[in-house]
Amino acid sequence: MSTKRNNPETIAIHGGNYRSDPTTNAVAVPIYRTTSYEFTSTDHAANLFALKEFGNIYTRIMNPTNDALEKRVAALEGGLACLTVSSGQTASTFAILNVAQAGDNIISSTDLYGGTVSLFTHTLSKLGIEIRYADPSDPKNFEKLVDDKTRAFYGETLPNPYLRVFPIKEVSDIGRKYNIPLIMDNTASPVICKPIEHGAAIVIHSLTKYIGGHGTAVAGSIVDSGNFDWTADPNRQPLFNEPDASYGGAIWGKVVPELTGANIPFAVRARVCLLRDLGSALAPDNAFAIIQGLETVALRMKQHCENAQKVVNFLKTHDEVTKVIYSTEHEKTIADRASKYLKGGNGPMVGIELKGGIEAGKKFIESLKMFYHVANIGDARSLAIHPASTTHSQLNEKELAASGVTQSYVRLCIGIEHIDDIIDDLNQALNKSSKPNLKAVV
Ligand code: PLP
Repeated sequence: MSTKRNNPETIAIHGGNYRSDPTTNAVAVPIYRTTSYEFTSTDHAANLFALKEFGNIYTRIMNPTNDALEKRVAALEGGLACLTVSSGQTASTFAILNVAQAGDNIISSTDLYGGTVSLFTHTLSKLGIEIRYADPSDPKNFEKLVDDKTRAFYGETLPNPYLRVFPIKEVSDIGRKYNIPLIMDNTASPVICKPIEHGAAIVIHSLTKYIGGHGTAVAGSIVDSGNFDWTADPNRQPLFNEPDASYGGAIWGKVVPELTGANIPFAVRARVCLLRDLGSALAPDNAFAIIQGLETVALRMKQHCENAQKVVNFLKTHDEVTKVIYSTEHEKTIADRASKYLKGGNGPMVGIELKGGIEAGKKFIESLKMFYHVANIGDARSLAIHPASTTHSQLNEKELAASGVTQSYVRLCIGIEHIDDIIDDLNQALNKSSKPNLKAVV
């Protein structure tokens, strides 16, 4: 169903073309637990393999449950096509491997999820893809690193721990001068930010987080905006302009618009080459779980953000808190990006630094009763973690400082429980954070 008004609440439930199951009229999207699909004739099979006709071949590459999710995520982000994959990590891996090969480079924001940093710095570099890091506080830093081998820019809309909103339009505009697409990871800000409206060419998600919303399935997605001209500069994007020997010499930038009538070569190439070869398919059972979450994402994001703002206001007045990190709590130029790019809320995540340093951070986490102490983000439940003693414990002082994690930094993902219960739990834990551990003293 198409919604003229583009309201995310409606798109999350009706977006895409799934209305009911074509054979049973089932309203909920069924889990199509099948590996294969019967061909009606040998011609039919041959046409599907030759991409002359689009249809189901094998669940590693496509599945009707995943298809319903893909169309809905594409609609939510305002894109033309989407590919779902087994995790958010696969989504970022595929987004890079779809444009870059050995000898090429990607220019990425320094403000990134830790798993993306290790993927970029360790794994992709071993494959010969260089990742150059640019500090997004000045968008011009991206331009300074461009050379003939630069294939994409990469950023995260609302990266933690800094929680500085990425300058999407500024960096996208620089990229478009050089025919370089901007890939945005929008995991922490679905609904409240639509990077495609600001010029992003590709939007990825860890669906595991806010879109899934309940901590029940790991999944990822890659949305193709359809707004990027992959053939404008053939030297800039060789993977879309040179014949692909793995697919009968297809030139993806040309063949996909001819066959589909849509400018979606990125999504099609990722599916028929990367998913075919690397096989990181999303299980339809997980797609089903993510669809259940997706239906309420707009409501949840609203509540997450409303609660987070109230938590920020409370924390700013608390004696044990020395610093509150939030999208709007930065110097003006950075805080202004929150009002420019985030609509309907300033984000669900809050960082704090505590008076008592690392010990207070640990004590605070251990004293929380309702908040869960987990490494995840984006659950309906409130979550907390102390990165210096967990996710970032292998880093030295200098690396910690560069990553924005101080010894006392605590990351809070504010859930959708009643705000009074959230604040009560934070308050009681903060009041204990600087008190000596009596058991240890005795
Ligand atoms: N991108 C961001 C911003 C994330 O926070 C995460 C996971 O925390 C990922 C990507 C990776 O997602 P997944 O855990 O689904 O592989």
